[in-house]
Amino acid sequence: MFCKSSKELLNYVEEARSVSKDGVVANYIPALAQAKQNDLSIAIRYPDSTCVSAGDVGKIFTLQSISKVISLALALIDHGADYVFERVGMEPTGDPFNSIAKLENLAPTKPLNPMINAGALLVTHLINGQSVEDRVRRLVTLVRELAGDNAIGFCPKIAQSEFATAHLNRALSYFLKQHKRINEDVDQLLALYTKQCAIEVNCSQLAQIGLVFAQDGLNPVTKRQVIPTEVARICKTFMVTCGMYNASGEFAIRIGIPAKSGVSGGIMAAVPGKFGIGIFGPALDEKGNSIAGLRLLELLSSQYQLSMF
Ligand code: GLN
Repeated sequence: MFCKSSKELLNYVEEARSVSKDGVVANYIPALAQAKQNDLSIAIRYPDSTCVSAGDVGKIFTLQSISKVISLALALIDHGADYVFERVGMEPTGDPFNSIAKLENLAPTKPLNPMINAGALLVTHLINGQSVEDRVRRLVTLVRELAGDNAIGFCPKIAQSEFATAHLNRALSYFLKQHKRINEDVDQLLALYTKQCAIEVNCSQLAQIGLVFAQDGLNPVTKRQVIPTEVARICKTFMVTCGMYNASGEFAIRIGIPAKSGVSGGIMAAVPGKFGIGIFGPALDEKGNSIAGLRLLELLSSQYQLSMF
């Protein structure tokens, strides 16, 4: 039986919050720098549609890299796994999420996996649609269906802030374009990618997205299959092998559940067959993961034996 009491959850939040001071709020995207270092909130959503939460769960934040799981799901739905994995690999990397280093060493040029920026840019490039607006609309629609909330959208200010400063992501994209891995205008791709990263959620919506992944793509509340089981399975596997960037191995040992983080401080986790977790804690460790969010998941995993291993 997992935690059903908000009071108990709040005790874990307060314990984990104490490590926030050791982290740093991301500032390479200027609009993210305004987040509060000490914030920490969590929501857990169960298949019977109950939700337990603690902290300021109404607070809205952007998906950032968590969106990579959803863009991958959409690209897999659009093209199938064979087509997608001819273009992007399946292997984890020991490099930081925005590293350009391995791209040149791989022949043919193929980003190692869809959870690092090079792979995510390529996956976003694969999303079908008539225009950037149409492709953003398709992504937002999928996030809405996963979260069961039609009010979800993206924050133009944060998208613009990242678009204006995304020099490294442009460099990765130009490299992929030079090697004929993408064939669209780089700024057009960046416009789409930065809007994807700027999709806004709160913890409770993020936990609902995690719940759908935990339930193999089925929304247990509406009984609707939001994404095919096979797509959910592939996404969850990447969450285990690459979801916490180059800290995924340690996360698998310490916590042991599929999870994906983003530089805004969000973590979406799916406890297979059970429930979804959404966390927001903007102070990050040196690898870009929410420092207090990791601590909180570690406390919960050891208390409730969440590890799937
Ligand atoms: N938008 C961010 C970027 O591309 C996402 C990275 C992240 O959350 N780690 O840099």
